[in-house]
This record gives sequence, structure tokens and C-alpha cells, in this order.
Amino acid sequence: MLRFPIYLDNHSTTKVDPRVLEAMLPYFTENYGNAASKAHEFGWKAEAAVELARKKIANLINSEPGEIIFTSGATESINLAIKGIAENYVSKGNQVITTPIEHKAGLDSYKSLEKKGYNIVYLNADKYGMTNPDELERAINDKTILVSIILANNEIGTINDIAEIGKICREKKVLFHTDATQAVGKIPVDAREMKIDLMSFSSHKMYGPKGIGALYISGKFPKIKLTPQIDGGGHEKGLRSGTLNVPAIIGFGKACEINKKEMVSECNKIGELRDKLENAIIAKLDGVYLNGHPEKRLYNNLNLSFEGIEADALIMSIKDIAVSSGSACSSATLRPSHVLKAIGLPDKLVKSSIRFGLGRFNTAEEIKYVINKVVEKVNNLRDISPAYSKETDRKTPKGVRA
Ligand code: PLP
Repeated sequence: MLRFPIYLDNHSTTKVDPRVLEAMLPYFTENYGNAASKAHEFGWKAEAAVELARKKIANLINSEPGEIIFTSGATESINLAIKGIAENYVSKGNQVITTPIEHKAGLDSYKSLEKKGYNIVYLNADKYGMTNPDELERAINDKTILVSIILANNEIGTINDIAEIGKICREKKVLFHTDATQAVGKIPVDAREMKIDLMSFSSHKMYGPKGIGALYISGKFPKIKLTPQIDGGGHEKGLRSGTLNVPAIIGFGKACEINKKEMVSECNKIGELRDKLENAIIAKLDGVYLNGHPEKRLYNNLNLSFEGIEADALIMSIKDIAVSSGSACSSATLRPSHVLKAIGLPDKLVKSSIRFGLGRFNTAEEIKYVINKVVEKVNNLRDISPAYSKETDRKTPKGVRA
């Protein structure tokens, strides 16, 4: 039986998996010790559980537990990484290379660095949102101290060639950070193989609780120097002080353990539902265009532009389905999507774009309902829209923008 509203905003956040919640509960009521308390059993138990969780998280990205620093989420991890590298390596140079389609946590960190005199180089994103490794190679010079490139985009799902980018950075001896928030737990991410030096990710995007995330810092020589953004009792190797959020860490660890085991089956199941949604909407409607790479894309992402439709009007008419528009994905303010603009989408289509983010708990029945509802409402809105003409002579295959 269908239950409303139907949740299709899994890039924004995910429901906590019941198995994760179950693992967390004793750490609120029974094992509520402070992991930094060294004098009694409550503290020892909490510490042991935290270290086990750290191991599970490290395991998911093929790293060592000692390379994981707990933070409040990916925003904090990204700030810790980017600002820390900028501050500690400025004697070598002041250039940081990134892309225009990073999450706001990255883009706003660069704005603050620019104010301090750093030179931020934004590589192009192609029409699919891909970064060209050759362009990166050409942009690196002796002043470059950091390359930071998003692994999988949160709006259009495009997956960058991170292994190639990591290889170039390693060859050029430049530190490489990636925002892997949408990727970790969904697709295989191997910090060693991909030659990643720093990586940010978050629990609440992978069926874990909110308020906990991680920064992976490669422990390989030479040691990477960062500056704490929060000072205090010296927790997390002095990089992030504050009493550890034990229940959240346990949940994060459990979420990683589940994702590692179920990643392949989940990819198949959710990917099939996403393809069904994509193919049916494009087949039943004219003037619908796919944003993001057709293949190199997260299996749970579908970002579509509906010609002649205001995304916000469509969202209001499908209130029993939770999706997001291209204007509200990554920030608390409503602004046209910087990602869709950067990939060259005309303003009109930027404002006509909707992101569907599928997840673990979606069903085929839900997707069937969403297809019918979206098609019906788009047709209704177009019937009253002077901006849309069904007779438009289309020169591209269905779903593909000219
Ligand atoms: N980076 C990406 C790609 C994201 O999608 C998000 C969340 O929207 C973040 C960073 C920020 O994550 P958090 O909510 O854990 O701070």
C-alpha cells in the first residue's frame, strides 16, 4: 500500500535505516559514557564502540581507522580540509584548483580564501558536469597547493574520473581533496587506489544519523598538516575538539557496514527504478531533457528539465511527492542552481528543472505513482502555459537537449 508523501529527495538527506537506529539506541540509554573518560567502564565501553565504528567507516573507503577524523558533517570536513591546507601550505604557493560545480560548502570556503588573497582557479565543467583531467593537468603549476574536485555531483549525479585526477595530482605532487558526500556508501570509493589525500563525507546521506561526518586524511608520508577549526580538549588528534557524539558515530559505523555489504544489490534495485522513472517520463512527455551524464551518473539521481514549466509550480502540484528544484538543492536560500548554470543550461531550463533522488526505501509501486502524477501535472501545467508549444520542431532525440 502506498504511503504519502513519497520521499524522492535522498540527495538532500536519507531516512535512518532501522538497523542503524537499533545499533544506536543503547548508546543513549545504557552505554552513555564519554569516549574520552579514561577512569571507568562507561568511558571504556564508549571508546571501544567508537573505535569499532571508525574501523567500519575506514573499511568502506579502504583506509585505516587512524585516517578518519569525526566532524559534524561534510560541510565541516570540507572547511577543515580546504582552509587547513590553504593556511599550512601558503609558503609553497597560493593557488587552489577546483570546479564551479562544487557544493556550497566548498564554493563558500573558496570565497573566504579569495578574500585573503588566494588565487582560486575554477576548471570548466562540460555539458554533463565532468571535469577534464587534461585541463587540470595544464592548470597545475608550482604555486598550486591543493586540488579539490567533487566526486559525484549532488544535483546532477555526474561522477568524475577521480582515479585519473588523483593520479595527476600524485604525479605533480599536489594534495588532492574530494567531496565524496554523495558517493561514499553508494558507489565503490577507494581512497588508496584513487590516490586521494583528503576526502569529506557524511553519515546522513547514507541512511545514518545527521550531525556526524568524517574527514579522511591520508596517513601516508609526508604527513598532511591542517589547522583545527574548533579548538578545545584536543579530541580527534587535536583537529576537532569537542565530546564525541557516540550514538551518532555508532550509527555512522553501522550505516557504513550495511552499505559495504549491500552496495551492489542496492545499485541494481535502485538503478532499475530510476531508469524506469527516467524512461517513462521521457517517453510520455515531449520537451523533457536529462541533466547530468547519461551513464557516468549516480544510479539514484534523475535531474530533468521540463520545457515550458516552472519547477516550483510543478513541485506545488505534486505535493504528495517530495522532490527538489534546481533552485534549492544545496543552500538554505532560493537561488538558481549554480550547477545547472555552469553546465550551460539556459536560464529558462534552469528554472524548469527538478531533481528526483531515489533511495533504499522506494518501491516500484511508488515509482509508478510518480510517473503518472508527474506526466499528468506537466500536461495540465502546459495546457495553461503560453510559453509551451507542443508543435516545436525537435531536432534531437527525446530527452536530449539541442
Ligand atoms: N557536499 C555535497 C556534495 C553534498 O551533497 C552535501 C549535502 O547537501 C554536503 C557537501 C554537505 O553535507 P552536510 O549536510 O553533511 O554538511
